Amino acid sequence: MKDELIKKLRSRGLSVTPQRLAVLGWLASRRDHPTAEQIFHGVRQELPAISFNTIYKTLEVLCRQGLVTKVNPLHEVARYDGSTHHHAHAVCRRCQAILDVDWEPALALSLPADLLPGFRVDGQSVTFWGLCAGCQEKLTTEEE
Ligand SMILES: [Zn+2]
Ligand SMILES: [Zn+2]
Repeated sequence: MKDELIKKLRSRGLSVTPQRLAVLGWLASRRDHPTAEQIFHGVRQELPAISFNTIYKTLEVLCRQGLVTKVNPLHEVARYDGSTHHHAHAVCRRCQAILDVDWEPALALSLPADLLPGFRVDGQSVTFWGLCAGCQEKLTTEEE
Protein backbone atom coordinates (compact mmCIF):
# COMPACT_ATOMS: atom_id res chain seq x y z
CA MET A 1 0.00 0.00 0.00
CA LYS A 2 2.62 2.50 1.08
CA ASP A 3 4.93 1.53 -1.79
CA GLU A 4 2.12 2.11 -4.21
CA LEU A 5 1.45 5.58 -2.82
CA ILE A 6 5.15 6.42 -3.06
CA LYS A 7 5.13 5.28 -6.67
CA LYS A 8 2.05 7.40 -7.37
CA LEU A 9 3.65 10.52 -5.95
CA ARG A 10 6.90 9.97 -7.83
CA SER A 11 5.08 9.31 -11.08
CA ARG A 12 3.68 12.86 -10.87
CA GLY A 13 7.04 14.35 -10.05
CA LEU A 14 6.06 15.03 -6.45
CA SER A 15 8.46 14.53 -3.59
CA VAL A 16 7.39 11.97 -1.02
CA THR A 17 6.48 13.60 2.30
CA PRO A 18 4.82 12.07 5.37
CA GLN A 19 1.94 14.55 4.92
CA ARG A 20 1.25 13.54 1.33
CA LEU A 21 1.51 9.86 2.19
CA ALA A 22 -0.84 10.24 5.13
CA VAL A 23 -3.46 12.18 3.15
CA LEU A 24 -3.37 9.79 0.20
CA GLY A 25 -3.42 6.75 2.47
CA TRP A 26 -6.32 7.99 4.55
CA LEU A 27 -8.33 8.97 1.46
CA ALA A 28 -7.69 5.59 -0.13
CA SER A 29 -9.30 3.94 2.89
CA ARG A 30 -12.55 5.91 2.43
CA ARG A 31 -15.33 5.73 -0.10
CA ASP A 32 -17.49 8.52 1.27
CA HIS A 33 -15.77 11.52 -0.34
CA PRO A 34 -14.84 13.34 2.89
CA THR A 35 -14.42 17.08 3.39
CA ALA A 36 -11.03 18.66 4.10
CA GLU A 37 -12.16 18.97 7.72
CA GLN A 38 -12.83 15.24 7.96
CA ILE A 39 -9.52 14.45 6.29
CA PHE A 40 -7.82 16.71 8.83
CA HIS A 41 -9.37 14.80 11.74
CA GLY A 42 -8.52 11.47 10.19
CA VAL A 43 -4.93 12.24 9.30
CA ARG A 44 -4.31 13.79 12.71
CA GLN A 45 -4.58 10.32 14.23
CA GLU A 46 -1.44 9.48 12.34
CA LEU A 47 0.30 12.87 12.31
CA PRO A 48 -0.86 14.71 15.44
CA ALA A 49 1.13 17.86 14.70
CA ILE A 50 -0.34 18.46 11.25
CA SER A 51 -2.28 21.70 10.75
CA PHE A 52 -5.48 22.21 8.79
CA ASN A 53 -3.62 24.57 6.53
CA THR A 54 -1.10 21.86 5.63
CA ILE A 55 -3.91 19.42 4.91
CA TYR A 56 -5.54 21.96 2.68
CA LYS A 57 -2.34 22.76 0.81
CA THR A 58 -1.52 19.07 0.46
CA LEU A 59 -4.96 18.42 -1.03
CA GLU A 60 -4.50 21.26 -3.50
CA VAL A 61 -1.17 19.82 -4.68
CA LEU A 62 -2.61 16.31 -4.98
CA CYS A 63 -5.62 17.65 -6.91
CA ARG A 64 -3.43 19.59 -9.27
CA GLN A 65 -1.52 16.42 -10.09
CA GLY A 66 -4.69 14.40 -10.50
CA LEU A 67 -4.02 12.07 -7.58
CA VAL A 68 -7.14 13.30 -5.81
CA THR A 69 -10.27 14.80 -7.34
CA LYS A 70 -12.49 17.46 -5.91
CA VAL A 71 -16.17 16.65 -6.01
CA ASN A 72 -18.26 19.74 -5.44
CA PRO A 73 -21.79 19.11 -6.52
CA LEU A 74 -24.02 20.70 -3.91
CA HIS A 75 -22.30 23.03 -1.52
CA GLU A 76 -19.43 25.41 -1.11
CA VAL A 77 -17.60 22.77 0.86
CA ALA A 78 -15.40 20.68 -1.42
CA ARG A 79 -15.42 16.93 -1.04
CA TYR A 80 -12.39 14.89 -1.95
CA ASP A 81 -12.14 11.64 -3.84
CA GLY A 82 -9.14 9.34 -3.58
CA SER A 83 -10.17 7.02 -6.38
CA THR A 84 -8.71 8.39 -9.55
CA HIS A 85 -10.25 5.92 -11.97
CA HIS A 86 -12.95 7.47 -14.13
CA HIS A 87 -16.31 7.04 -12.45
CA ALA A 88 -19.64 8.77 -12.03
CA HIS A 89 -21.30 9.88 -8.79
CA ALA A 90 -24.73 9.68 -7.28
CA VAL A 91 -25.48 12.48 -4.82
CA CYS A 92 -28.18 12.45 -2.17
CA ARG A 93 -29.92 15.82 -2.07
CA ARG A 94 -30.85 15.37 1.57
CA CYS A 95 -27.78 14.10 3.43
CA GLN A 96 -25.22 14.93 0.72
CA ALA A 97 -23.90 11.39 0.61
CA ILE A 98 -21.78 10.89 -2.50
CA LEU A 99 -21.71 7.38 -3.88
CA ASP A 100 -19.45 6.05 -6.60
CA VAL A 101 -21.12 4.78 -9.73
CA ASP A 102 -19.01 2.48 -11.86
CA TRP A 103 -21.11 2.34 -14.96
CA GLU A 104 -19.33 2.59 -18.28
CA PRO A 105 -22.19 4.00 -20.41
CA ALA A 106 -22.38 7.07 -18.18
CA LEU A 107 -18.80 7.92 -19.07
CA ALA A 108 -18.81 6.97 -22.73
CA LEU A 109 -20.30 10.27 -23.97
CA SER A 110 -18.06 12.40 -26.11
CA LEU A 111 -18.81 15.92 -27.22
CA PRO A 112 -19.12 16.37 -30.99
CA ALA A 113 -16.27 18.63 -32.10
CA ASP A 114 -18.51 21.04 -34.05
CA LEU A 115 -20.64 21.80 -31.00
CA LEU A 116 -17.98 23.92 -29.35
CA PRO A 117 -15.49 24.85 -32.06
CA GLY A 118 -12.02 25.38 -30.71
CA PHE A 119 -12.76 23.92 -27.33
CA ARG A 120 -10.63 20.97 -26.32
CA VAL A 121 -12.35 18.77 -23.75
CA ASP A 122 -9.99 17.22 -21.22
CA GLY A 123 -12.40 16.00 -18.63
CA GLN A 124 -16.01 15.34 -17.87
CA SER A 125 -18.07 14.33 -14.90
CA VAL A 126 -21.41 12.64 -14.60
CA THR A 127 -23.58 13.09 -11.53
CA PHE A 128 -26.89 11.51 -10.72
CA TRP A 129 -29.09 13.24 -8.16
CA GLY A 130 -31.63 11.79 -5.84
CA LEU A 131 -32.30 10.39 -2.41
CA CYS A 132 -30.21 7.65 -0.87
CA ALA A 133 -31.86 4.56 0.57
CA GLY A 134 -31.37 5.76 4.15
CA CYS A 135 -33.01 9.12 3.47
CA GLN A 136 -35.94 7.57 1.63
CA GLU A 137 -36.53 5.37 4.63
CA LYS A 138 -36.30 8.31 7.05
CA LEU A 139 -38.74 10.33 4.95
CA THR A 140 -41.29 7.53 5.00
CA THR A 141 -41.08 7.15 8.76
CA GLU A 142 -41.28 10.90 9.29
CA GLU A 143 -44.42 11.10 7.20
CA GLU A 144 -46.18 8.42 9.19
ZN1 LIG B 1 -29.26 10.59 1.98
ZN1 LIG C 1 -15.96 9.01 -6.28
